[in-house]
Amino acid sequence: MRTENYILRENRYGAHNYHPLPVVLQKGKGVFVWDTNGQHYFDFLSGYSALNQGHCHPHIIQALHKQAEQLTLVSRAFYSDKLGEFMEFACKLFGYDKLLPMNTGAEAVETALKLARRWGYRCKGISSGKAKIVICKNNFHGRTITIISMSSDPSAYTEYDPYTPGFIQIPYNSVQALQEIAANPDIAGFLVEPIQGEAGVVVPDEGYLKQCKEICEKNNILFMADEIQTGIGRTGKMLACDHEQVRPDILILGKALSGGTIPVSAVLADDEIMFTIGPGEHGSTYGGNPLAAQVGIAALEVIQQENLIANAHEMGIIFREEVHKIESPMIREVRGKGLLNAIVTTPVHGKTAWDICLMMKKRG
Ligand code: PLP
Repeated sequence: MRTENYILRENRYGAHNYHPLPVVLQKGKGVFVWDTNGQHYFDFLSGYSALNQGHCHPHIIQALHKQAEQLTLVSRAFYSDKLGEFMEFACKLFGYDKLLPMNTGAEAVETALKLARRWGYRCKGISSGKAKIVICKNNFHGRTITIISMSSDPSAYTEYDPYTPGFIQIPYNSVQALQEIAANPDIAGFLVEPIQGEAGVVVPDEGYLKQCKEICEKNNILFMADEIQTGIGRTGKMLACDHEQVRPDILILGKALSGGTIPVSAVLADDEIMFTIGPGEHGSTYGGNPLAAQVGIAALEVIQQENLIANAHEMGIIFREEVHKIESPMIREVRGKGLLNAIVTTPVHGKTAWDICLMMKKRG
C-alpha cells in the first residue's frame, strides 16, 4: 500500500486528535525506525521518552514473549509470582517502601493526587473537602478530566468543563511563589515536573527543586514529582530530581518503565502515604499484571546494564554542542538535559518548525 493510502485510511477512520508528520512507520530497532518504503530514520522523539531503551530492545521483548506465553493477567483478586518481584525490584532501586502499579501515566498521576488528598486528610489533618494541590503553570500531566482541570493550556481544557476543583496554580520555576502560599494549612501536595516536557523542555534554574523540597518539608506538604517523561535515564540521571539530590515524597513513573512495549506506570511512596489507601479503595484491572511486572523489571535492567544514564548525559552534550554550531536564523536556542532537549525556532520566510521537521524527515 502507498504512504498516502495508509494516511488516508487513518484519517478516514480515526479520530483527529493528533496531527502526525506524513511518515508511516513499520519497524523499529534501537534508535532507528523504518517506514513502509524501507527508508530509515533516527527517531529523535523516542515515543516522548517511552523508548529510552530503544525500539524493540531484545531483553525487553524476550521478557515480554516469555511472560506472554506463561501468564498475562490475573486481576488483583489474586497474587501473581511476578508482581511482588517487580515491586521489590523498583522499591529497592528507587528507595521507597511501596509501589502502586497502574498502566498509563495519567492514571499514575491520578493515583498520586488521590494519595496526596488522603494523606492530607488522615495525616496532615486537613478538614474534609478542603484539600488543595499546588500545581505549576504550563504543566502537562495527562488528559483525564481532573488532570486537564490543572492545565493552563486552552487546547487541553477548553469545553471539557466543569472542572475538578482543589488546585492552586503557581508559576513554574518560582521558589518565591511556592513560599508565599506554603503556609496555607489546606495544601496537601506540590506536584511538579522536574523539567517541563510538553511545555517545551523547560529546565528550571539550578536549585529550584531543592528549594521547593525544603519549603514542602518545612510546611508539611508532600513533594510530588511527575517523572513520567523525565525519569528512567532520560536526562542523564536515573531521575531528573537526582540532579539536585531531591527525593520526592511521591514519585510518579510511566513511559520508559516498559521500554515502549505495553503501558506500565507506577507511583512510589513510603508507608505513611501509601497505607492511606486500603483494599478496594483504588485499583485497575490491568495495573500490576504479571506481563507488565516482568516487562517493568526488564526495562529497568536494560537502563542499568547498558549504562544508558551515562549515555544520555554524554549524547546530550554532543547533541546540544552540534546544534549550537548550526548557523541558521531559524534556530533561537537549544536547551535540555541529557537526551531531553528542545530546539526553539523562529519562523523565517513563513517557514516554521513544522517545515524543519519535514526537511529532517527527507534527510532521515
Ligand atoms: N506526565 C507527563 C510529565 C507526561 O509527559 C505525560 C505524557 O506525555 C503524562 C504525564 C501522561 O502520560 P500518558 O500519556 O501515559 O497518560
